Amino acid sequence: MFDKIINNFTIILKISEKCNLACPDCYFFFHGDESHLRRPVIIREDVVHGVGRFLMEAAREQGLRKVVIGFHGGEPLLIKKEFFAEICKLLKHYSNIVQLELKLNIQTNGTLIDNEWIDIFSEEDVQVGISLDGPKFHNDRTRPKVNGKSSYDDTLRGWSLIQKAVSEKRIKPSGILGVASPYLDGGETYGHFRDVFGATSVNFVLPAYCHDTHPGADYIDGVRYFMMGVYLEWKKRKDYGIRLRFVNSIMRHILLETADEERMFISDVRNQISISSDGEIGPEDVLRSTHSDFRNSGIYIQNSNLKEIFAHPMWLSFGDGMTKIPDDCMPCKWKNVCRGGRPWHRFSFENKFNNKSLYCDFFYQINELIFSDLLKSGADIAKLNSNIGYL
Ligand code: SF4
Repeated sequence: MFDKIINNFTIILKISEKCNLACPDCYFFFHGDESHLRRPVIIREDVVHGVGRFLMEAAREQGLRKVVIGFHGGEPLLIKKEFFAEICKLLKHYSNIVQLELKLNIQTNGTLIDNEWIDIFSEEDVQVGISLDGPKFHNDRTRPKVNGKSSYDDTLRGWSLIQKAVSEKRIKPSGILGVASPYLDGGETYGHFRDVFGATSVNFVLPAYCHDTHPGADYIDGVRYFMMGVYLEWKKRKDYGIRLRFVNSIMRHILLETADEERMFISDVRNQISISSDGEIGPEDVLRSTHSDFRNSGIYIQNSNLKEIFAHPMWLSFGDGMTKIPDDCMPCKWKNVCRGGRPWHRFSFENKFNNKSLYCDFFYQINELIFSDLLKSGADIAKLNSNIGYL
């Protein structure tokens, strides 16, 4: 298991713990975790050096060969540009010493992107992902600025700069990430990202609730309806060359029996850690917001190593809950594709991770539909059944 973890190791680095937007559904600020209030607003330099030292030790002593570092916030572009560029250089410096393959990406609301940021992304080879929730009328409700004003036009302007730089081959292609909403039509939202933003890589995540916190069955069913609408629109447009990640991921698994770690709704996230601006290490970012037990580890990147993290009581408390298919999923045809879904959508205080996903109905329906569409396109049923472990 340890090999599997270090072969797919990801760090979410919180370089800014504040935001210029005040999204009411933000899992980071408004789902009960208030630890950001006691941390520095901007990451400290000793934390960055701590990450570098940690990576060198992991490469030398635990055989780490590659790592993905995602810059997150709050809004990560609230950091000073010079400091951001310096952080990238420092991380590359430490990685180069131990021949560690390093990939850098950033998830931003895009409102602060200007030409100077584009120059930095280009120079430091940082891949950019933009967060947006849908058309302006919806985005104005879900992603307002802290002063209540709309952020939509600023995001569109930042996205245009990104697209220009991509077309000039200065930075890698970028994608738009949205959150599925029961208050929107999924097909229209996907169409908006395609037609207005010209996006060629799109993904939607399921709202970050667990069994104890979700708003109710109607809400969950509305999310299913949204996601199905996205798939149907993608299909109607014959957008087969467009990367719609959740669909591509399910298809890959059904067609190719893809390895677990490539799945979109991956169930085991022990290979992902988040590092706060003061260096405190936590589990995967959304998981942190799921329950207070998953927030404060009390261990810091400045003086920890990889083995210590995975031996920490918090990681041990995940037990086999993340890897084990939930009991209720065992009779399900899709258990090897879905595995009960993401850990936070399975979590309840009573059963921990041993529940099927809150979004089970969506998973069942999308898997059935994609499977049947693949059959209609000529795929061999015996091969597909074998790939999903349904014989
Ligand atoms: S579709 Fe539902 S029952 Fe089947 S594996 Fe997924 S969460 Fe479990």
